[in-house]
Amino acid sequence: MVKVKYLERPKLTYKERIFFLDFIRGMKVTIKNFFRKTITTAYPYEKLTPPKRFRGTHAHRVRDGKEPPSFNVLLKFMEINEGESRCVACYMCQQACPMPTLFRIEAEQLPNGKKRVTRFDMNLLNCLYCGLCVDACPVDCIIMTDQYEGASYDRKGCVIHLDDMSERGKDFDNRRYNEPDRIWIDDKNREKLWGQIEWT
Ligand code: SF4
Ligand code: SF4
Repeated sequence: MVKVKYLERPKLTYKERIFFLDFIRGMKVTIKNFFRKTITTAYPYEKLTPPKRFRGTHAHRVRDGKEPPSFNVLLKFMEINEGESRCVACYMCQQACPMPTLFRIEAEQLPNGKKRVTRFDMNLLNCLYCGLCVDACPVDCIIMTDQYEGASYDRKGCVIHLDDMSERGKDFDNRRYNEPDRIWIDDKNREKLWGQIEWT
């Protein structure tokens, strides 16, 4: 038979009983926090801009001259114009994804022998927002942005497509490309709220 051990309730001293010391201690915490600055926001009336490394709605970076060297090698085999998605249809993102069926990636071969991406859909209803697809991309194409309002009244509205991903990628890079790649928006404020973090 399994013996169950119960914790004994600590006994109050006479002083604690007479002067309600525990009650006073509790009220001290309540009063202190009552006058502290509010750190919550009244969403949707108030909206915060998340840090750059926030894992929001996916996007595609476009061909804009800032590609990694791997892209220039693959460009020999791809038909990608300036301003179009950098995707080379390598399927690495889909391979890395724990829910690979959420992707629909298609490409066609052109008469000049080059490849062109014709479809890149993602059903975000199945997405875990883990970011593994982003890490796997060899040409820094698929990224996650600071957009977090992806709710929709129907399932179709949660499927994102090649064109809107490229537009989102352009918008994100225009606003935040040069920002430091950090997790927090404001290090000083973070330290004030949660104390100093020692990175190992
Ligand atoms: S964030 Fe994770 S679950 Fe979502 S598409 Fe990328 S790899 Fe798949
Ligand atoms: S890993 Fe990158 S280049 Fe390859 S299919 Fe996915 S988005 Fe396109």
